Amino acid sequence: MHLDDAAELRRRYTGESRCGAKAELRRLPAGDPLIPRSSGDQEFLEAEVLRGLLEYPSTYTTRPFRVLWVIPRPTGMTIRFAADADADGLTDFVAWGLFPAGGEDDMRGIPGLRLVNAGHNRMDVGLLGTRARIRLEGVPSTSWREVEAVRQRAAGDAGETAPFRHPELTLSEKAFTQRHSWLVEARRGTAALGSALLRRLGLFRTAADWHDMAGYTKYSDTFAFRMTFTKEMLTSHAEFLRQLTQPDCGIPIVQRMAACSCATGGTDCRLYLTCQPPYEGRVELQFATSWECSASEIAEVLRYAGSPESDIARYVPLRPGLACRHDRAIHGRTLQFLQGLAGSRRAQRAEAAPTDSAGMGTK
Ligand SMILES: [Zn+2]
Ligand SMILES: [Zn+2]
Repeated sequence: MHLDDAAELRRRYTGESRCGAKAELRRLPAGDPLIPRSSGDQEFLEAEVLRGLLEYPSTYTTRPFRVLWVIPRPTGMTIRFAADADADGLTDFVAWGLFPAGGEDDMRGIPGLRLVNAGHNRMDVGLLGTRARIRLEGVPSTSWREVEAVRQRAAGDAGETAPFRHPELTLSEKAFTQRHSWLVEARRGTAALGSALLRRLGLFRTAADWHDMAGYTKYSDTFAFRMTFTKEMLTSHAEFLRQLTQPDCGIPIVQRMAACSCATGGTDCRLYLTCQPPYEGRVELQFATSWECSASEIAEVLRYAGSPESDIARYVPLRPGLACRHDRAIHGRTLQFLQGLAGSRRAQRAEAAPTDSAGMGTK
């Protein structure tokens, strides 16, 4: 394949710039796949980050979970969060969705995740006791300082240890990993799939015109994506699946079952997919449709959460004059919810505000 074509294909999956994709491809050892596969602890960490992204509540952004692009390399990867993303939402995700929070029976985030290094608008995170690393770019420096301050404060109040730079597992992490060792093992079993999906996260934007994407996980082996479209922007799920399984860049996945209503003009479909070796685990894809009369409200929510106008115009085409048959109270709830959330976050941060940021390891 010509380098230009290879770069075009790769960036469809990663969201990278044309130059960026070319530069990465030039550095790949000859014969390597266009999107290299990860392995071992690194693979596990990448799958855990995907799980963190999927399990954190809906983001209301036109980027897949706020991610602008990913750079998958043979020995590590970089995730670039969109600069236009809602900085407060991103801070919250890093604080409570990535770093471990909770106890023995309700731990969220990634047990053993540590801050390895932080610099201007980036943080390197790693898995304790391993060489696995992921670089997170586009996390404003003020944001990760807040993350640490908020979590230190919360840990202090609860008489616990904040995980960020703690040199060993915290008591909560130890309790969780001992009590749920089967779960940790099961997650390791699907690490290859999770890592492969994270390394292709860009496809969820380039191949589907949703205006909202949410995720969740099921059992210990299923990565699930729920995409919501306006009626005008519906994406064929067969076409999406074709790209997800494309031989040069895709993942070997087969459809096991579908709850599909396309043939009868329906709008909500669910695909249940199983992986083929070398991968293990499952993927669930949901394609949903939003109410036509919700378009202006959706646009407002996206705008409030920091999505670019060009994306909003593209994915939520406005059709003025649409009749709404709903009770008035039905619309506007999401925006109210987000405004309430922002208010409580501001209060939490104001309380935890570091008096000075010296000694935070800035480079
Ligand atoms: Zn269908
Ligand atoms: Zn309505």
